[in-house]
Amino acid sequence: MENRLPGHTDHAWHQLTPQQALEAQQSTSSGLGEHEAGERLQRHGHNRLPPPKRRGPLLRLLYQFHNVLLYMMLGAALITALLGHWVDTSVILAAVLINVIIGFIQEGKAENALDAIRNMLSPHAMVLRDGERHEIDAERLVPGDVVLLVSGDKVPADLRLLSVKNLLVEEAALTGESVPVEKSVAHCQADAALGDRRCMAYSGTLVSSGQATGLVVATGADTELGRIGAMLQQVQALSTPLLRQIEQFSRWLAVIILILALATFILGILWHGQNPGEMFMMVVALTASAIPEGLPAIMTVILALGVQRMAGHNAIVRRLPAVETLGSVTVICSDKTGTLTRNEMTVQRVVSASRILDISGVGYAPEGAFHQDGKLLEPDNALLEIARAAQLCNDGRLQQDAAGHWLLHGDPTEGALLTLALKSGLDIATLQAQLPRSDTIPFESEHRFMATLHHDHAGHGLILLKGAPERVLEMCASQRDADGGDASLDADYWRRQATDLAARGLRLLALASKPAAAEQRTLRFDDVESGLTLLALVGIIDPPREEAIAAVAECQRAGIRVKMITGDHAETARAIGAQLGIGVGLPAMTGAELELLDDRRLREVLPNIEVFARASPEHKLRLVQSMQDSGQVVAMTGDGVNDAPALKRADVGVAMGLKGTEAAKEAAEVVLADDNFATIAGAVREGRAIYDNLKKFILFALPTNGGQSLIVIFAILFQVVLPLTPAQVLWINMVTSSTLGLALAFEPTERGLMNRAPRAPNEPLLSGFFIWRVVMVSVLIAGAGIGLFLWELELGKSLESARTTAVNAVVMCEMFYLLNSRSIFGSVLSREALLGNRAVLVTIAICLVLQLLFTYAPPLQGVFGSVGLSLDEWLRVLLAGLALFSVAELEKWVVRRFGLHAQAT
Ligand code: ATP
Repeated sequence: MENRLPGHTDHAWHQLTPQQALEAQQSTSSGLGEHEAGERLQRHGHNRLPPPKRRGPLLRLLYQFHNVLLYMMLGAALITALLGHWVDTSVILAAVLINVIIGFIQEGKAENALDAIRNMLSPHAMVLRDGERHEIDAERLVPGDVVLLVSGDKVPADLRLLSVKNLLVEEAALTGESVPVEKSVAHCQADAALGDRRCMAYSGTLVSSGQATGLVVATGADTELGRIGAMLQQVQALSTPLLRQIEQFSRWLAVIILILALATFILGILWHGQNPGEMFMMVVALTASAIPEGLPAIMTVILALGVQRMAGHNAIVRRLPAVETLGSVTVICSDKTGTLTRNEMTVQRVVSASRILDISGVGYAPEGAFHQDGKLLEPDNALLEIARAAQLCNDGRLQQDAAGHWLLHGDPTEGALLTLALKSGLDIATLQAQLPRSDTIPFESEHRFMATLHHDHAGHGLILLKGAPERVLEMCASQRDADGGDASLDADYWRRQATDLAARGLRLLALASKPAAAEQRTLRFDDVESGLTLLALVGIIDPPREEAIAAVAECQRAGIRVKMITGDHAETARAIGAQLGIGVGLPAMTGAELELLDDRRLREVLPNIEVFARASPEHKLRLVQSMQDSGQVVAMTGDGVNDAPALKRADVGVAMGLKGTEAAKEAAEVVLADDNFATIAGAVREGRAIYDNLKKFILFALPTNGGQSLIVIFAILFQVVLPLTPAQVLWINMVTSSTLGLALAFEPTERGLMNRAPRAPNEPLLSGFFIWRVVMVSVLIAGAGIGLFLWELELGKSLESARTTAVNAVVMCEMFYLLNSRSIFGSVLSREALLGNRAVLVTIAICLVLQLLFTYAPPLQGVFGSVGLSLDEWLRVLLAGLALFSVAELEKWVVRRFGLHAQAT
């Protein structure tokens, strides 16, 4: 094995000590150099699993034939051919082909939409290169890289752990075991099973708590996950409950129609003694007219376009049924920091035991000064001690780029503290060298503080801590005095000061310190629970996002309650909430208060509370459950690993794409690429619009089939010649349902969409009203077709011209009905409503041309048996269309006038 290139995966990595593993990878604990990493990337390729094998275009095209409806049509083609009806055979075959092409295009659209989503979800990794932390695309990891893991991360490659701190990893993706496994660095036996290799962290598993560093030993297809050939299921197939419902509906419809057709066929021959050949053609016409072939395919296109549009607006839908659920959301529970606020933090105030300092300047640039009572103050020792704590108990890093902009790597709260330290004139590098860090208790939303242990070169130990003031006050016994000495803690003073800062909408942090023994090298919770000295309170401003203010108002108009659930101080939360229009005039509730309520009481008070403060992830879960129990449909945001249960439980879990952990994203239905509340509101709007368009399309498409079936059934019942031949029926189906209907996929969001109340989640699609509308329009279309057909015959015209008139009448009705269909209840009698969707106008124009070709082009006349029409006949056709349009608008008017649409939906 000596001559192996670094990064080769045949080592039993779990058997090696960390040092041996580093040597085998020719790496060090401070990571690879950029150059070396680049070379290894060339050699090993990107760290990604090979994409699932796709069928080639030809195979994909052929696969489209694999469909019961098409088998039926192919069967019909065979029989018509045997009967010698060549024309019908070729039309049926053409119809099959068009269906296959639509299916092919639909699949392409769906795949594009899913690919776009997949690409937006690619994870990142924190890696050490040349000893410095960098956040890179996980795809660029190479063997030999040293990766940092924190709770909520998805392990980006197979790692030999180098150091761990309380690391628990959930390995369900690999071993199926859902209980998190505790990891260590000690090497294991050569024959240890995958699940027992405690010193390894495998790609695709989730860090449920703790921290670690690990050496990348395998990437991409070489990882254990790659070896077992598992594809991480990031996004499902493009389908939703509604789509499945419709697919099932059309399958049932097909079966029923077949049985009916068969019965008609047998009865017709046995009872009426009809010619089997003629009867067969009638039955084919009936089948072809009644089955909505294009329905599921075009609905998928509508969904795919919608999902793509949402991704374009930064809302990535991971589980597609969420698209429908979004439209019925009644409550949105949102985080505050970064979602409703800008997450650009600046320290504005520092309060110590003896004075209040105001700090000027905005953003991370260290430009600003300290003022006491309006007078400039030069940083003194007391201030420097505070600044030192702010700077050392901190994981953020500020960097000035070439253009002079200050960039932050890390948590904005910590960035604000770094800027404060720089404004006081501290030199960060010197300080870090003087007081290197020995250990850390990282910040978690549960305990709301962070602590670090430092030692100077003389061996003196120092513990520094920062966190939420209530929490820190509990740990402190004394406070730093003006002269640098310690005095006993005046808890009341600090609480008053905290309330005052919070009421200004400032975010609060308390800073404290404590000496430590020279030999103490690790930091435990016990070490910081008591005996600290409070140094200062810090007030940080984080202004609300402008667009969030507008989005909150939009949601409220749409009948959606917006609730803010934050880890911040109650007063801060209320003040920021008021600026956003959330919880104005209502009390705020803290997590502690929430715990005192039983479930029943909680349900009672919930409607009157919009701001929840000092809330932890468990509180979020309880809130979701409680709201769902009172019949609400809840969207809940989250970012931390512990938010996962609440995200899963919520009807629509929304994870933050930027600051969210991978664990949260995995649990969520929707991921926000920009962490912005306004994006959630946009997604709800889009969800409503997609659902609307699906409904509009179904309402448009079904009467086409209904109308034609009625025409054929009429002919069979009354034993008149068929007004439409099978070939003509197929022509209409292809031209109208498929061409015209597609226009509705491009239907823009209806105005007033966000002024409606949310849709009831259990509302059946085919409600009584829907059925009424489909039947009404079907009857109108059939009436137009049959009426004009009989009228023509009455006038002594040829059968061909009567049929041509009937076909044109049906298509003309469809064209007008497409205009009606742009709004289910709203009137379309306005310029905007008639001309607002270009796709509608274009498809109508295409349809017109096709109808003219159908009527006048000799080849088509040959195929379809059509003949040219006179001006009179065209006029009657036009009138039939106009009549349908008017009746449909009249019906909508009646429905609106009597407020029936409230019951209808
Ligand atoms: P939201 O839940 O809306 O995002 P949040 O960011 O205020 O709100 P947390 O991150 O849980 O919620 O923070 C809660 C409190 O913990 C803050 O008000 C602050 O006092 C304290 N805190 C936040 N970040 C840190 C940190 N990095 N170190 C120490 N304390 C922190």
